[in-house]
Amino acid sequence: MPRIAFLPGDGIGPEVCEEARLLLEMVARHAKMDFELIESPVGGASLDKHGAPLTDETLAACLSSDAVLLGAVGGPRWDDLPLDKRPEKALLRLRKELDCFANLRPVKVWPQLRAGCPLRADIVEQGVDILFVRELVSGIYFGAPRERRTRPDGVVEAVDTEYYNTAEITRVAEVAFQAAQRRRHRVTSIDKSNVLETSRLWRETVAEVGRIYPDVALDHQLVDSAAMRLITHPYRFDVIVTTNMFGDILSDEASVLSGSLGMMPSGSIGSKGINFYEPIHGSAPDIAGKGLANPLATLLTVGMMLEYSFNLQHEARRLEQAVNAVLDAGLRTGDIMQPGCRQVSTRQMGAAVRERLA
Ligand code: NAD
Repeated sequence: MPRIAFLPGDGIGPEVCEEARLLLEMVARHAKMDFELIESPVGGASLDKHGAPLTDETLAACLSSDAVLLGAVGGPRWDDLPLDKRPEKALLRLRKELDCFANLRPVKVWPQLRAGCPLRADIVEQGVDILFVRELVSGIYFGAPRERRTRPDGVVEAVDTEYYNTAEITRVAEVAFQAAQRRRHRVTSIDKSNVLETSRLWRETVAEVGRIYPDVALDHQLVDSAAMRLITHPYRFDVIVTTNMFGDILSDEASVLSGSLGMMPSGSIGSKGINFYEPIHGSAPDIAGKGLANPLATLLTVGMMLEYSFNLQHEARRLEQAVNAVLDAGLRTGDIMQPGCRQVSTRQMGAAVRERLA
């Protein structure tokens, strides 16, 4: 039986995760399989109970599971703690222990929510549905040397190092090509190969991997023009694969297109076969406990888990169709509310999705 480490966390985390749990129960019934959910506290909830944001027990539960689902961590109650005690520390440690090397972030403008997209209508109408695949454990955020030092003449200097090797590039490129095979068969690799040696290696290696996937069209773009095209022609992208820093910046740029954090799922592929799934939003303390949170980001995150960890492509597609149907029916949580629509609570939204799925 597949085991899922289930970490609701803080703020709206437990509210949106409850809807995830009910959804998983329904999917399990339909797919005639069972998921074992191992629930553990994480972040502030773990600090309150055990004095640490991530205990050895919770980590062991994650490492002995097939996938990890996390709601959100953090909140003002824990903001003044020293850095190593902060709830967010749990996320960093989990990503490290699971060796999450590829972060997957779909950016989609749902047709019903186009009004929430800051782009011009004639651009959005052509459809925005991009999957970012960002390398997550190497590149300039981790390369050595990384230091500040004082020269003999007294001038202070600082250095960071962009580092990549072919093994690191190959494994993230493979994730991107395989994802493209289940989508629209296009990969755009983004680099800065006109300037950076690491980018030249990146481009050559991605091209090499691309030869194994002749059914996927590959193109390469420089990061500066890609940043512009994400705004002028977002509909031209399918899967984007890029380095840690470029992915960090570009995926945040693109995330504003979807209109609300409450619509944005994510997942990270781990080298140990245990993937880590979490909606991109935080614990939203301003709306926590009020039934106002949008659970769709978390439900779509479950969809990613069904697809990437349990090979349940059909169920993942059906879940997307159910979300589409709920939006078509005019149901909205506060963050995506529009005139003429009906505002519903977190629970009502979760129930509406399950109803369509049934
Ligand atoms: P946030 O994502 O929690 O909230 C930003 C804004 O978006 C808020 O107005 C919030 O109400 C709204 N929002 C977020 N998710 C929503 C949802 N599902 N439905 C409706 N509205 C939603 O970001 P923040 O306010 O900067 O951070 C709050 C706390 O969360 C902080 O402690 C921060 O460190 C933490 N945080 C955690 C994660 C994570 O767990 N992965 C990510 C980001 C921030």
